[in-house]
Amino acid sequence: MTELAEFYREFGIRDEVYRFGESVLGELRERFGEIDRIAEYNQMKVIQAMQKSQVNENCLHYYASGYGYNDPGRDTLEEAYAAVFHTQSALVRPQITCGTHALSLALSAVLRPGDELLSPVGKPYDTLEEVIGIRPSKGSLAEYGITYSQAELLSDGSFDYEAIKKAIHDKTKLVTIQRSKGYLTRPSFSVKQIGRLIAFVKEIKPDVICMVDNCYGEFVETVEPGDVGADLVVGSLIKNPGGGLAPIGGYIAGKKDLIDACGYRLTSPGLGKEVGASLGVMQSFYQGLFLAPAVVAGALKGAVFAANIYEKLGYPVIPKGMESRHDIIQAVELGTPEGLIAFCRGIQAAAPVDSYVVPEPWAMPGYDSDVIMAAGAFVQGASIELSADGPMKPPYAVYFQGGLTWHHAKLGILMSLEYMMRDGLVRLT
Ligand SMILES: *Cc1c(COP(=O)(O)O)cnc(C)c1O
Repeated sequence: MTELAEFYREFGIRDEVYRFGESVLGELRERFGEIDRIAEYNQMKVIQAMQKSQVNENCLHYYASGYGYNDPGRDTLEEAYAAVFHTQSALVRPQITCGTHALSLALSAVLRPGDELLSPVGKPYDTLEEVIGIRPSKGSLAEYGITYSQAELLSDGSFDYEAIKKAIHDKTKLVTIQRSKGYLTRPSFSVKQIGRLIAFVKEIKPDVICMVDNCYGEFVETVEPGDVGADLVVGSLIKNPGGGLAPIGGYIAGKKDLIDACGYRLTSPGLGKEVGASLGVMQSFYQGLFLAPAVVAGALKGAVFAANIYEKLGYPVIPKGMESRHDIIQAVELGTPEGLIAFCRGIQAAAPVDSYVVPEPWAMPGYDSDVIMAAGAFVQGASIELSADGPMKPPYAVYFQGGLTWHHAKLGILMSLEYMMRDGLVRLT
């Protein structure tokens, strides 16, 4: 045994689990090579965008407070984001508090009373239900007289073009397309698929604005939604593009007039993007963006490793071990409450922060069952960091994502298996 194996043993991982992990890894070399090639491409893309925007030292350390007029750090970063996402403009701010806020901001910047919003990909992410007013909520778009319609996906998870065509009419102003499945069981969409859907929608109604919820999808492929016709691309800096370093933030990239509208909505009509001090977070925004392609690659390797480990042990996994990836989320149906709890405790035990905490199932607002969550993150709730959670109800699926480095993700997954073994829930032969 090598010294490395000894290290894993000190973490409490038995040799049998370590060797099983190594045997699974042996089959994943080609797959990991492909993930590295995508990361390399995206790293070039980010460096090129930063060079083109002439990022300089002043951008990193310019400490803007107060109104934040002429903040070069903020304005250059927005240029770099627009260059990365191949859009005309971008809004990237610490004043955008999270992904939901960014999406809500984009919707309310563009939509007016009497307009209709359409989701052609079924139900949107949970938190958007209250933004839109699908679940009645204070301040929702519904309260402002903005209506909503939805076209369901077909049973195989593909677009129902017939239903989408029927749902588009003269009031339809904006179409929102969620790239990642989030915590649903539908497939996540490739950027290419999203491009086909946008082309279809624009053929029916050319002036419809197409927005893509890009959360969890950034840098997973070599193309982004802006490359295939999206007018607005929206995401969270506490996920992929923050690279684990951004302490807060969201971004919206897209057409200039729409981004200006988002600026007016974020601050005030008349002020728009001109104000909003960057408050010293710029270095982490730039450095996070710079690291993001590598961080996403680490998270993807973790997801692929977990899928293959648990698939081999007979558990249903979504996506499957060999399936192509369009986001960083991996679901594993563990089948029992004990399995879900042991898995999450293993992930927690591998964390650099709060490793001694023991996760317990708990009631959470917005959920109809108890939920268990494992996270030992540097940034609160950051799901680009290694984390796992799941509702305590059948099929006891755990949603696993993140890992700032592949080797941390690997340790977490081996720990999850070790904890399942200790509780007698799984055997390796
Ligand atoms: C995470 C996520 C959101 C919301 O982002 P928060 O930062 O949690 O508010 C929206 N849509 C999708 C698909 C997500 O994964």
